[in-house]
Amino acid sequence: MAHPPSILQAIDTIWIDPEVQAHPLARRIRDSLPNVRTRTGVPEPRPTTHPASIDRIKKSLFVTKSRGHLVKPCPGSRGRICCGYWVINAMMHCPMDCHYCVLQTYLSVPAMTIFVDEGSIHEEILARLRDRENHFFRFGTGELGDSLIHDTLTGFSRRFISFFAETQNGILELKSKTAAIAHLMECDPKGHTVISWSVNPPEVIRQVEPKTASLEKRIQAARQCQDMGYWIGLHFDPIIAFEGWEEAYRGVIERLARALDPSRIIWISVAGLRYTRQQKESIRLRFPETPLFSGEFFRDEDGKYRYLQKTRIMLYQKIISWLRQWDPNLFIYYCMENQRVWEKTFPHPPRNTRELDEKFDQRIRRLLKNG
Ligand code: SF4
Repeated sequence: MAHPPSILQAIDTIWIDPEVQAHPLARRIRDSLPNVRTRTGVPEPRPTTHPASIDRIKKSLFVTKSRGHLVKPCPGSRGRICCGYWVINAMMHCPMDCHYCVLQTYLSVPAMTIFVDEGSIHEEILARLRDRENHFFRFGTGELGDSLIHDTLTGFSRRFISFFAETQNGILELKSKTAAIAHLMECDPKGHTVISWSVNPPEVIRQVEPKTASLEKRIQAARQCQDMGYWIGLHFDPIIAFEGWEEAYRGVIERLARALDPSRIIWISVAGLRYTRQQKESIRLRFPETPLFSGEFFRDEDGKYRYLQKTRIMLYQKIISWLRQWDPNLFIYYCMENQRVWEKTFPHPPRNTRELDEKFDQRIRRLLKNG
C-alpha cells in the first residue's frame, strides 16, 4: 500500500505493553516494521506542549489495551450545535504534522497509541445500534488521528468496513489526508462506509499541512473510492482566511466538481479555523513561521479562538454558494457552529443537536434507499 513518503519510516521505536505481548495485532505491527527497535513496557508520559515531545510522540508507537470505553459521543463544544457523531478511539495521534492539529495539546499519550481491543469496540457499537434500531448512527475513527495512515500496520479500516457492512443502522466514516486507499478496493461496504477527505487550497496544504497528500492526490483517491462503491465525505475544515482565499477556495470546488460525482457525496462539513490558547502557544513554538494567525480572532464562549462571527458568515456564505452552484442537492452542515451562524446562512437551520442528527438520519435513509 502506498503511503505518503517516509511517514511510517520515521517511526523508530515500538513499545509493546507487556499485557498485550502475545496479541496477534501486536505481533502483526512488530512484523510490519521489522527494522524498528521494539521495547516491552510502557513509555514515559511526556509534556505534550513541548515541541521535542510532540516530535518524539510522532516517532514512537505504543500498542496497548484500553482502560475505558473506546466508543464515545463526540465531545462537541459549549454553545454549539453538534451533529450527534460517535467517535471510535481505536488509535490516537498521527505522524502527519498539520500546524493547527488539535491533537498536539488535546492528547496526553506518550506515543502514537494503538489499542488492540477490537472485540470490545464491536460490542460497544452493537450496544449503541441496538439502543435505537430505527435510527442511523454515524461513527468515525478519524477524530483522534487519521483513519487510514496506520492501516498497513493494523488493518483496522478493512475490518471495520466489513463489520459495518453487516449492521442495519451503522455508518462508518474513515477520514483522511492521505491518498492511501488501494487496500480498500476488495471490501464490500454495502453502503455503510463513507471515506472522507479534508480539503484546502494547494497553497494552504503546502504551508500548514506538512506530510499530507496534495489536494490533487486526495481528489484522485476520492474519485477511486466513489468508483469502488463508497460514499464520499468532504470537510472544508479548517477554512483559513488569507489574502486570495476566495479564488483559492473557489478553485478547490471547481477541481472537486471536475472529478467527483456529487450524487455520491453523502455530506460536506464546513468550519473555520479555531484553536485554544494552549494550542496557539504550541503552534508558535513548533511552527514559528506559520501564517495561521494572520486574521482577526476573538475568544468565544467555549474558550476557543475563532474568526469574528461576521467573517465566518461571509466565508461560509461564499463557500456554500459555490458548492450549491456545483449541485444544489449537496448535504452541507457546520461542525460546531452556533445557532446565529446557522440562521444567517441556512434557510431551514436545525435548532439543536437532535434536529441536526435527524437531518443526517433522513439523508442516509434516502441515499441508502436509492442505492
Ligand atoms: S492529518 Fe489530522 S490528525 Fe494528522 S496532523 Fe493533520 S489534523 Fe492532525
